[in-house]
Amino acid sequence: MINAKRFQDDFCAIAQFGVLDNGGVTRLALTPPDYEARNYLIRSMQNAGLSVRIDSFGNIRGRRAAENQQLPAVMIGSHLDTVPQGGHYDGVIGVLAGLEIIRHLNDENISTKHPVELINFCCEESSRFGVATLGSKGLTGQLTCNMMQSIRDHQGISFYQALQQGGCAPDNHAQDILRPQDIKSFFELHIEQGPVLEHQKIDLGIVTAIAAPTRFRVKIIGQNDHSGTTPMALRHDALVAAAELILAVRNIACDSSPDSVATVGEIHNRPNAMNVIPGEVQLSVDIRDIDLERKRIMTDNFKAQIAIIQQTHQCQIESMLLCDDQPITLNTGLRDHLKDIARQHSWSYHCMPSGAGHDAMHLAKLAPTALVFIPSRNGISHNIAESSSLENIVRGIELLSEAVKQVAQAV
Ligand SMILES: [Zn+2]
Repeated sequence: MINAKRFQDDFCAIAQFGVLDNGGVTRLALTPPDYEARNYLIRSMQNAGLSVRIDSFGNIRGRRAAENQQLPAVMIGSHLDTVPQGGHYDGVIGVLAGLEIIRHLNDENISTKHPVELINFCCEESSRFGVATLGSKGLTGQLTCNMMQSIRDHQGISFYQALQQGGCAPDNHAQDILRPQDIKSFFELHIEQGPVLEHQKIDLGIVTAIAAPTRFRVKIIGQNDHSGTTPMALRHDALVAAAELILAVRNIACDSSPDSVATVGEIHNRPNAMNVIPGEVQLSVDIRDIDLERKRIMTDNFKAQIAIIQQTHQCQIESMLLCDDQPITLNTGLRDHLKDIARQHSWSYHCMPSGAGHDAMHLAKLAPTALVFIPSRNGISHNIAESSSLENIVRGIELLSEAVKQVAQAV
C-alpha cells in the first residue's frame, strides 16, 4: 500500500516553495523557488536510497538499483515547476507519485530486474521561456546548443544561460541524450486539467493520445499616432489588428473539430497609453490537436489570416514559430495493462485524449509510455483553485505502482 501520509507531508513541503499570499504558487523554472523545490526533491531521493544526478538539461534523475543494472530502466516522471499564479497539483503529484512508488518498493524490500528511475523534468511549463517541456525535449535529443541559446525569457536570459547559472553544462548535452536501449517504459501520473472525469464521476483517465501544440510569437507593427488628430482611415493600429487576429484564431479552432483548440493567452500592447494609437503588439498563439493533419490545416489558416489582416489594417505582422510538436498515440499494450489493474480493483476508468502537452509525449517516441489522469476538482488547472482529492491521488499512485512493479519485473 502507498503511504498517503508520507505523500501528503512531501506535498505540503513542496507547496511552500513559491507560495503566494492568495494560496497559489509561482514557481517558474530555474528560479529560486524552483531550486528550493528541486533541492527538497534531491534530498528526498537520496534519503530513499536513489543515486541522483542532474543532467545537462537540468533534469533531476534518481535511479534505484536493480538486479541487472544494465537493463533498460522503467522511468516515472513529471515536473515541479509551475505557471505564474498556478496551483499545487500540476506536475507535483506525478513527481511525488514516483517517489512514493520507489519508497513502497523499499518498504516491501522488493527488488526489480530492471532499474526504476524517477525524473523531475526541467522547465515543463512554457511560462518562463515560451517553450514547454524543455527538459524532456533535451533528454530525447530534440534540443541543440543553438536552440538552448535562442530560447529566452522576458529578461533576455537564455535557457542555456539559466542552465549554466544553475551549475549545469549544456555544452555536454550529447552525453545525456536518452537512447531507446536505456528505457524500457515511461509512466506519468497527472491531474486531468479538464472537467471530464469529475463530471462523469470516473476514478481514472487512461490517456490514448496527447495533443501537441504548435506555437507562435507574433509581433504586429503599426504606427504610434495621436489618438485625437489621426483620422480613422489613416491609422495603422496594431491593437485593432491584434483584436482581429485573436478572433480569427478562435474561429480557426471552432471551424476545425471538437478536439481542436487555439488560444491567444498573452498580449503586450505598446505604448499602452490612453491617447496614443497602439504602435506595436506582441502576442502568443497556441494551436493544439490530437490529429496532425487537422493541426497543419489550422496552422495554414492562421498564416492566411495574418496575410489578410496585415493588408486590412496596414500593419506589418511577423510570426515566429516557437514549437511544432507532433501529436502522439500512446502504447496500447501499456494501456491494456493499466485497464486490467483498474478492473481488478473495481476502479472506474475512462480512455481519453489529453488536450494538454506533457513530458510523456516526448518519452513516447523512445519507449512504451503510459499517462494516467486523476480528476481535477471543477476541471480547473493553471489556477490557484487547482485541486484533486487525496483519495484520487492515492488511487492513481496505486495504479501506477502496480504497473511499474510488473513492468520492472519485481522479484
Ligand atoms: Zn503538468
